Amino acid sequence: MDKYIVVQKFGGSSVANIDRIKAVAKRIVESKTKNNHLVVVVSAMGDTTDEIEEMAYAVSKNPPEREMDMLMSTGEQISCALLAIAVKELGHKAISFTGNQVGIRTDKSHTKARIETISGQRIHQALAEGKIVIVAGYQGVTEDNDITTLGRGGSDLTAVALAQALKARVCEIFTDVEGVYTTDPRIVPSAKKIKTITFDEMLEMASLGAQVMQARSIEVAKKYNIPIHVRSSFSKEEGTMIVETTDKIESIAVTGITSNTKEAKITICAVPDQPGIAAQIFTEVSKTGAVVDTIVQNVSHTKLTDISFTVPKNELAKALTAAKKIARKINAGEVLHDKNIARVSVVGSGMRAHHGIAAKMFQTLAKNKINIDMISTSEISISCIIKETEAANAVKALHKVFELERI
Ligand code: ADP
Ligand code: ASP
Ligand code: MG
Repeated sequence: MDKYIVVQKFGGSSVANIDRIKAVAKRIVESKTKNNHLVVVVSAMGDTTDEIEEMAYAVSKNPPEREMDMLMSTGEQISCALLAIAVKELGHKAISFTGNQVGIRTDKSHTKARIETISGQRIHQALAEGKIVIVAGYQGVTEDNDITTLGRGGSDLTAVALAQALKARVCEIFTDVEGVYTTDPRIVPSAKKIKTITFDEMLEMASLGAQVMQARSIEVAKKYNIPIHVRSSFSKEEGTMIVETTDKIESIAVTGITSNTKEAKITICAVPDQPGIAAQIFTEVSKTGAVVDTIVQNVSHTKLTDISFTVPKNELAKALTAAKKIARKINAGEVLHDKNIARVSVVGSGMRAHHGIAAKMFQTLAKNKINIDMISTSEISISCIIKETEAANAVKALHKVFELERI
């Protein structure tokens, strides 16, 4: 019988120190049975990536993105080599590789590069030699041999993309919680583990801030229909299966609540209310590469209007420069910004069939005296932008009112 390939990914907390690396080594040796080949993807140890990022910002306010990728990709090189050493110490065969060495070719968009192809040749060769293959997550290489990274949380993407390229039978994501929960268990300890969740719902939750999976990795999983098992690296419990459809005949209205404090708001005041102005503003901002999310334009009674929009906090500086430049050009007023905002969202594919979810969400925030600054919706989610300091309270209240503890 042909051997099948299993891809397992261990996140930062799972390899945070030497003892944990040894524990992961034991676990992967156990899971390499006679009939499978094992490819393991690792993140950097603990908070290494944050720490090295801080170092760069201590040197420069605006470090060049190519150099950031050189720097940020180093954390994974340490953890994958240490894990290979730990496996060998247990008397088993292993080899570690960087993204470059296994042929993960990306485009040139440094800090958020897209994977174009994976050759995987060295992986197949090493597997044929009976080795456990350990790959540094979160990184690739351009056609010019420059190192790139795949966006924060990008080791999830490395794992899913490898599962696709290698035609793996299973893709398991090992993390510090037992699966995907109805909301972040760090905010609501009584949150419930979800047994199965669809790609669509997981993609929405991840895009709206559920850190447990990187959103882009779910896009790839959905595109190629690769089921993912999210589970704990500290226990043997079954986790959450992320799949195309669940076996529930009708979906419940709300599956989960998310919050995201990684965005900032820019407001351009007193914008002339004329055709083509919004196009000019967002063309200028998009030139910087900043990703604009919720946009709100007020109705104008005076031929002047305010336009607000959100961007990721780490892209605020460049978006703000662009907004100020265009504001001058179109004779608009002041440009304001606010870093202390949060997006709180309710997500569920059952929303397509249930009504009154928005009303219930707004009532709950009102009862808790939380002011809504901006609102946006998709087919399966409703989001409110509120003050950052009120995010945890909003999540707790919404989790309760939508009865997610009872799932
Ligand atoms: P890793 O280092 O394994 O990649 P992450 O820190 O990226 O782990 O993601 C796991 C964390 O995601 C959990 O510790 C949890 O606090 C957070 N999280 C946020 N939302 C959710 C959710 N809905 N379900 C599970 N975990 C969540
Ligand atoms: N180490 C990278 C990060 O912290 C990638 C990952 O952990 O998935 O974003
Ligand atoms: Mg992660």
